[in-house]
Amino acid sequence: MVAATTAAAAAPPLSGPRSPARFRRHGFRVDSGLKDDLVFGDPNAPRFVLWEGKLRPVPSKPADLPFFDLMSIPGKLRAGLGALGIRPPPPGREESVEEFVRRNLGAEVFERLIEPFCSGVYAGDPSKLSMKAAFGKVWRLEVAGGSIIGGTIKTIQERGKNPKPQRDPRLPKPKGQTVASFRKGLAMLPNAITSSLGSKVKLSWKLTSITKSDGEGYVLVYETPEGAVSVQAKSVIMTIPSYVASDILRPLSSDAADALSRFYYPPVAAVTVSYPKEAIRNECLIDGELQGFGQLHPRSQGVETLGTIYSSSLFPNRAPAGRVLLLNYIGGATNTGIVSKSESELVEAVDRDLRKMLINPRAVDPLVLGVRVWPQAIPQFLVGHLDLLEAAKSALGQGGYDGLFLGGNYVAGVALGRCVEGAYESASQISDFLTKYAYK
Ligand SMILES: Cc1cc2nc3c(=O)[nH]c(=O)nc-3n(C[C@H](O)[C@H](O)[C@H](O)COP(=O)(O)OP(=O)(O)OC[C@H]3O[C@@H](n4cnc5c(N)ncnc54)[C@H](O)[C@@H]3O)c2cc1C
Repeated sequence: MVAATTAAAAAPPLSGPRSPARFRRHGFRVDSGLKDDLVFGDPNAPRFVLWEGKLRPVPSKPADLPFFDLMSIPGKLRAGLGALGIRPPPPGREESVEEFVRRNLGAEVFERLIEPFCSGVYAGDPSKLSMKAAFGKVWRLEVAGGSIIGGTIKTIQERGKNPKPQRDPRLPKPKGQTVASFRKGLAMLPNAITSSLGSKVKLSWKLTSITKSDGEGYVLVYETPEGAVSVQAKSVIMTIPSYVASDILRPLSSDAADALSRFYYPPVAAVTVSYPKEAIRNECLIDGELQGFGQLHPRSQGVETLGTIYSSSLFPNRAPAGRVLLLNYIGGATNTGIVSKSESELVEAVDRDLRKMLINPRAVDPLVLGVRVWPQAIPQFLVGHLDLLEAAKSALGQGGYDGLFLGGNYVAGVALGRCVEGAYESASQISDFLTKYAYK
């Protein structure tokens, strides 16, 4: 969430000699017409974590590590030794994010960096999130190299031997790890896709049932403004939330439905507010401006808001001159009570928190630009997530439901970039499946 999509993640690799076969076969349409509307955050802009009443920058490159004041010297030493492999061995069972990070990198890295990061990405509880499922890339480093640093070295060596597929040269290249959006916000992407697909997109059709058809394939029944409509399809990809898929699939496979019903989506609220620039505390300004990606708040620091994105610092034209636009997230797995709060209570909670560290306590009231509550916001990749997902897929396979695929964020990963990559993977699966119908 707060640590939004990395720009590079959303770009499919270029078709070419090094691309995996599935990418070679289907020429991708990589441009939804928005290339010139992409906007990137400055990769060098700081990110902050609230610790003991102060917003402290997070190290953005290895050279920052000795100097940043978010961790103590013993905490940094513990992290360095652990990353080298001087730490307790893995327990031989699936670990939570908290267990993995405390064991490998120590308490300070967990409490001051990873715990707030889990709020930022999952609005989640790191004592329940699975390291393997939620942060698989880091989890694999220890498996591959015996330690986080050992695994990093091994990954770099392997990348030298098998370079990544070349990036499509038509895509803009961000200058580092950053976040991206579009000039008029993310809504530009679905709107552009909708206009290029035209009437094939049915925004007000609600899927109510799937049955196997008498011949091959499936019959899907939709509730539409024109009444019930049924559609016959050889293959179906369900990218609806898992709890909806669970209900729809129950008549086909109760095992798949049971597994899908167990993924948990906590509520999150997004509260967008604007203050005049003078409302920002002096100590939070850099060269007289609010600069950076935003800030994250560990649960131990006495604030309810999970984190704040400095929208007007990250992207151009998000606020008129003299004002700042702040997008705040509140709620999540550790604070599900937000669903019973009114909009004004949510704004009050966010404003109260911001006045503890970013906004002058006597500043004027903010302008409220939007409050949106998602009662079931983000699927949590908890310990056991991958097993449940596998159970759902194999129940469908064993039930003989060939050509019926599961997709979306609880399958691919919650970051928008992973959802886009996952969509290409799903398209490839469907295409492979449909080759059996190809004219031979
Ligand atoms: C508050 C919030 C902030 C976030 N911030 C970020 C961020 O900064 N960066 C980032 O990378 N990611 C972020 N994410 C995560 C990311 O946005 C999501 O993981 C991603 O958009 C999910 O895409 P999806 O297609 O899997 O699911 P969804 O976008 O949830 O799409 C599911 C669709 O299924 C439709 N549907 C449901 N039931 C039916 C039915 N019966 N018939 C037909 N259609 C149905 C729904 O209407 C919906 O359109 C955020 C998520 C939330 C909630």
